[in-house]
Amino acid sequence: MKKFGYVAKGFIRAITRIVIEIIHRFILHLPDTLFGFLKWPSKKLRIKILILNSSEDKLTSTEDIGKAIEFAKQIFKKEFNIQLLPTRGNNSFIEIVQSNVPSEVLYTKGGTGALKEEFKTAGNFFAAKLAEPVYPVTVFIVKDIEGATGCSLGPMTDYITLSHDGAKDESVLAHELAHACGLWHVNDRTNLLWNRNDRGDKIRWWQKNVFRSSRHITYW
Ligand SMILES: [Zn+2]
Repeated sequence: MKKFGYVAKGFIRAITRIVIEIIHRFILHLPDTLFGFLKWPSKKLRIKILILNSSEDKLTSTEDIGKAIEFAKQIFKKEFNIQLLPTRGNNSFIEIVQSNVPSEVLYTKGGTGALKEEFKTAGNFFAAKLAEPVYPVTVFIVKDIEGATGCSLGPMTDYITLSHDGAKDESVLAHELAHACGLWHVNDRTNLLWNRNDRGDKIRWWQKNVFRSSRHITYW
């Protein structure tokens, strides 16, 4: 019964997120896409980083993720005119979650495995711990992601995951946030959306419009 509940809740979450995303992208944020060719007024992306604790080994520290936050701030400002900020009412990006975290969450999966997990224990945990639904992106730092250093299910969820190693890498946070805001991989090593971690920080003109018209990118 619990399993069925997780699946049902997962579907409701996914469908509502997709509908909300379509409304933003094609109606509410459409002027940003159209006028985006003329002017790029400053917008905001708010995130909350939750470091998930477990007693058995080393915790990701706030210093570990510091470089990735600075990189994301710089590239989003320079390329998209977007300010990366903590969620409203918070001065800090980072919070440490001390409560018991299930092992399915601490040791999660990437790719299609992550999609399956969204309808199981991990998806239910992430939904319960979100900073706020719909607009901000919650970043969960887990111990390990099978086959990846970071993962995003795109506009379907309000969160991304980073592994302990992914959090220490300069570019993974910005890359996964870009997926959350609707961007997909491009075959160009100099681009932020290059699939591997030796990526550059370049952005193409159309990527700006896709990114800026996401529901996560707001004026407030
Ligand atoms: Zn990617």
